[in-house]
Amino acid sequence: MHSLFTTPTVMIFEPSSRRSAAPARKTVPYVTPAVIAATLTCAFAAVGVSAAWTPAVAQQGIKQVAPIDTTNLNRSVAACTDFYQFANGGWLTRNPIPAAYPQWGSFMELRDNALDAAHSILDSIVTVRTTASDPTVRKLGNFYASCMDTTRIEQLGATPLKKPLAEIAAIRNAHDVTNYLIASQARAGGLLFNFGSIQDSKNSTEMIAGLYQGGLSLPDRDYYLKADEKSVGIRDAYVKHVVKLLTLAGESSAHATADAKTVLRLETTLAAASLTRVEERDPELTYNRKTPAQLAAMAPSLDWKAFYTAMRLAPNTPVTVQAPKFLTAIDSMLKATPVADWKTYFRWNKVRDAAPALSKAFVDEDFAFNQVLTGAKEQLPRYKKCLQAVDGYMGEASGKAYVDKYFTPAAKASALQMVHNLQEAFRQRLATRTWMSDSTRVGAYAKLNAFMDKIGYPDKWQDYTLLDVRPANSWYENVSAAKYFSNDDDLKKVGKPVDRTKWGMTPPTVNAYYNSSMNEIVFPAGILQPPFFDPRADDAVNYGGIGAVIGHEMTHGFDDQGAQYDAQGNLQQWFTAADLKSFKDRTAVVANQFDAYTILDSAHVNGKLTLGENIADFGGLTIAYAALEKALEGKPRPLVDGFTPEQRFFLAWAQVWRNNTRPEAARMRLTVDPHSPGLWRTNGPLSNMPEFAKAWGCKAGDPMVRPPELQAVIW
Ligand SMILES: [Zn+2]
Repeated sequence: MHSLFTTPTVMIFEPSSRRSAAPARKTVPYVTPAVIAATLTCAFAAVGVSAAWTPAVAQQGIKQVAPIDTTNLNRSVAACTDFYQFANGGWLTRNPIPAAYPQWGSFMELRDNALDAAHSILDSIVTVRTTASDPTVRKLGNFYASCMDTTRIEQLGATPLKKPLAEIAAIRNAHDVTNYLIASQARAGGLLFNFGSIQDSKNSTEMIAGLYQGGLSLPDRDYYLKADEKSVGIRDAYVKHVVKLLTLAGESSAHATADAKTVLRLETTLAAASLTRVEERDPELTYNRKTPAQLAAMAPSLDWKAFYTAMRLAPNTPVTVQAPKFLTAIDSMLKATPVADWKTYFRWNKVRDAAPALSKAFVDEDFAFNQVLTGAKEQLPRYKKCLQAVDGYMGEASGKAYVDKYFTPAAKASALQMVHNLQEAFRQRLATRTWMSDSTRVGAYAKLNAFMDKIGYPDKWQDYTLLDVRPANSWYENVSAAKYFSNDDDLKKVGKPVDRTKWGMTPPTVNAYYNSSMNEIVFPAGILQPPFFDPRADDAVNYGGIGAVIGHEMTHGFDDQGAQYDAQGNLQQWFTAADLKSFKDRTAVVANQFDAYTILDSAHVNGKLTLGENIADFGGLTIAYAALEKALEGKPRPLVDGFTPEQRFFLAWAQVWRNNTRPEAARMRLTVDPHSPGLWRTNGPLSNMPEFAKAWGCKAGDPMVRPPELQAVIW
């Protein structure tokens, strides 16, 4: 899943991963890769968008500001020197980061608005949770109410851990170790590795299973393996954190101290066997389809027959192994690691997973370590954590209530019209790509024409009948039930026809994504509001916002990863060899460009990790700009606030990326986030665009104009 943005928020309740639309990556509890995306608009006037279009924010009566608020500018910096500062400097000065957030910007503001909207919805649902005729509404109310019942949560303290820890204590031998591992995978998934349903990359009509690296508590393998001062400091803090949580769970301080060392040692072994994030982006490297017999040969220590039975898989189900060396390493570890060490690792994972759903002492310690990673100064209010949990575990139930209230059919229609405009602009652009042969161009047209568009919300909603949420149950029990439901629901997809109605984001999500195997672009309702789309704004602003976002998602189908998939979503080369070389040469220019960018004085952007997103930003802007020029043909072009339509297009893009980020969070994102920092998502692509230089009168040699020989030219 290739999204517009990675939400930096500290998720207090870890939603089970929504694996339907993407290679599974179990979210680590400290960073949730929720995405942000977008849809679009423009056309309010130009394409006849209905006046009934009422984005969520407008309907909620949240204060609206001018589409381009000139007080957000910093005119002391020249547009051709640092456009990000020119466009956002005023806003950056006036908007310090709220204490509970690692970062603050357009996405976070909208996300916070969406939480406010959800708050009023859930508060009214709670009042009818025993009487509502719809059982899903009753579950939703009970789920949220149990999260808000802090009196009961405090009374329970650590007691919800008693039974699960007793189960681990009963492990006696290596056979018990693998049995526990298998049972745990079947219950909630995610222990030691990740496992779930996935479309076969090379036969996208087939739902098979996927096995993915995992088992780490820190955000990335680098945190275990790097020797610099900051990494060492975070590891020291992590060890103390393990000690504290295990102590809260009932261990003596000496016992917990010894356990923490064991945990770090085992996780470091897993980290060393893990692919890097750049390697994880390689679809061929990570496609390793195996039969059950081949799995057994790779990792004989696991009882695969028992595993298949527990996971309710047909005996011949193929499994694609993301990282064969990781699976082999697990096998070696199962052979060599003492039973007592496994029990420690299991205990830690149980306590860590449970902590956010337990009493204040656990939640506070969880947050304390979070602070080390993100720099956040205080916790979110309880209700916001609970609303995030609702979105993570029952997001299509709360999301349905959200769109019923805030998202109209007219909005959906207008967004779809904008998507079609961008698709047409992309089609015309393809015709002008002289580096591409006609035979490759035919494949590109086929892929573009086959895009599936999803706007606003799913046509078919998730069925929550089997989710066992009960009013009498504790928050911990309800969360456990939700994890089971999510894991079970995902595993049931294996061996079934691909369900093309599924969504990988909930409707209020402020984000968008492209899914290579489905060849679909998806824009949840949450992104269909200012500053991405504003019904009162002119074409220039809307094309620079949601238009560029739509172009971004479309370009993902043609970025360094997406271009390896054909129109049917199969991993299959459709470029000629010569065109492929030309494409790679061009994308390498972008990788080198971003490698040279730094934040926090000297921390470098990883050009290879962020390549797909940078290509998508650049392509999306180029396509949206062309679409704007088409929309403006024959129309009056008044200056607004002294700016031309073209200048306002670029200002709109820049304001989407304005953000203040704490240094801790900024460093973490450089390591884990495939998106570049907002500063470079603004200045990077624009300095490649002759359209930008022309709009602002920039000259050769200006910082916002890359030398022609270094300018990327792709889509
Ligand atoms: Zn993206």
